Amino acid sequence: MTQSVPLYIGGEFIQSKTNQWIDVTNPATNEVIAKLPCASTDEMSNAVDDAKRAFNEWKNVAISERARVMLRYQHLLKEHHDELAQLLSHETGKILLDAKGDVWRGIEVVEQAANIASNMMGETVENVATDIDSYSLIQPLGVCSGITPFNFPAMIPLWMFPLAIAAGNSFILKPSEQVPLTSIRLAQLFEQAGAPKGVLQIVHGAKEQVDYLLSHPDIRTVSFVGSVPVAEYIYHTGTLHNKRVQAFAGAKNHMVIMPDANKNQVISNLVGASVGAAGQRCMAISVAVFVGDSKQWIDDLCQEMALMKPGAWDDEQAAYGPLISRAAKQRVLRLISEGKAQGAECLLDGSDCRVDGFPEGNWVGPTLFRSVTADMSIYQQEIFGPVLICLEVDTLEEAIELINQNPYGNGTSIFTSSGGAARKYQHEIQVGQVGVNVPIPVPLPFFSFTGWRGSFYGDLHAYGKQAVRFYTETKTVTARWFDDDIPTGPNLTIQLK
Ligand code: NAD
Repeated sequence: MTQSVPLYIGGEFIQSKTNQWIDVTNPATNEVIAKLPCASTDEMSNAVDDAKRAFNEWKNVAISERARVMLRYQHLLKEHHDELAQLLSHETGKILLDAKGDVWRGIEVVEQAANIASNMMGETVENVATDIDSYSLIQPLGVCSGITPFNFPAMIPLWMFPLAIAAGNSFILKPSEQVPLTSIRLAQLFEQAGAPKGVLQIVHGAKEQVDYLLSHPDIRTVSFVGSVPVAEYIYHTGTLHNKRVQAFAGAKNHMVIMPDANKNQVISNLVGASVGAAGQRCMAISVAVFVGDSKQWIDDLCQEMALMKPGAWDDEQAAYGPLISRAAKQRVLRLISEGKAQGAECLLDGSDCRVDGFPEGNWVGPTLFRSVTADMSIYQQEIFGPVLICLEVDTLEEAIELINQNPYGNGTSIFTSSGGAARKYQHEIQVGQVGVNVPIPVPLPFFSFTGWRGSFYGDLHAYGKQAVRFYTETKTVTARWFDDDIPTGPNLTIQLK
């Protein structure tokens, strides 16, 4: 029998009483693997009320005790790493190696959450006036919320709730309706780590449930990761309801290839960064910008890309898995045919891709275009599939100008053996995460995930110190104590005994 995904409300995994359900499918077969409830208004309201109750107790728990919950959680996640990766593979179709990476990058954030006290230290200035000191306290906000996408079912929820909760908040998570199972397992392990009932709640659904969170007066923050139109909507609607919002959106990430770069490194990194995880990574390289003579490497790149075969999650020969849904596949195929119609040269076409034993899977083979221009839809839109497009320019300056005109600013990289070129690039490029001979420069969690421009709406980014600022408020105390009030004489001696 198909399982129905539980809600996690009030510290209990409960079956929803809703009459609205969504099918969760395995992308390699399109079989229904679970039924997902769209939480009813009463269930949403219970989640918020209980999160509020939990916050009032949790905020007073000693910070070292809150940190210890994260230490135990980190340990449990490591112990269950492979099991989580398999579950995640099942619902996303990711090959096991990618799924393990997804879990691992989440664990690294939990490690940072265990270090919460050092990120919640205020500042002190003595004698701001005679006998008066000022100091700041960093305090949690209350009920925080998170809305997550399909492509990293472990990592992205773990970007959010561990830091928010370690900082003393409670948290309501609405995972992607396409991949809800990993979140439930993450919550079970969190409870096992000693998290008190109610500090984490999980509700399921789609727009209606998100709208409930966006407009509820008791919710203080909204963390969102997903596509551009939804990010824009979440940011505008959330801020209209006076919430602090951080919304991470889509991307078009360029790799600049200088003619002095190491050719073998360029080719192998470009292939992995573009078609790896079926291109369904917000930091995937989807545009290669060849500077000068480096364009001569495109034929070799094509040969390497052609060797990349998609397959099922446990196929050790597979380079990547299927796209998440039939709709996602149709969208990618439409963009490939638009690229051809608009005059780009398709060197490798993965539109008609089959995988033995999985006739119904959402497969797309590696696809490579050259002679692409900036007005084509394959350049302007995020494709989110195993498709790499190549542009050619004469100089580094031209490459920088092209990329700075693109509306997105999530990630980029330059491959070169020149320190001067690398430094000019990192200094002038209007993109928030830059790799130098590193194709996918996702910062480790002691930094923050700093997408810019059209890839991010808000001010404070995910994880690292910025996330702790996002989930907290600063209170400044100015205190004056009077010498006259200091006890003196025999009474003091008695008290001190
Ligand atoms: P999506 O925008 O379709 O869905 C994300 C979340 O929003 C889901 O939980 C979904 O239920 C909810 N949602 C969908 N439509 C909504 C609506 N109309 N109103 C309110 N909520 C709605 O994104 P996706 O397809 O799950 O994820 C892929 C996208 O996420 C890509 O564009 C990718 O670039 C982006 N992404 C960005 C980052 C980043 O850090 N910048 C990281 C991962 C993914």
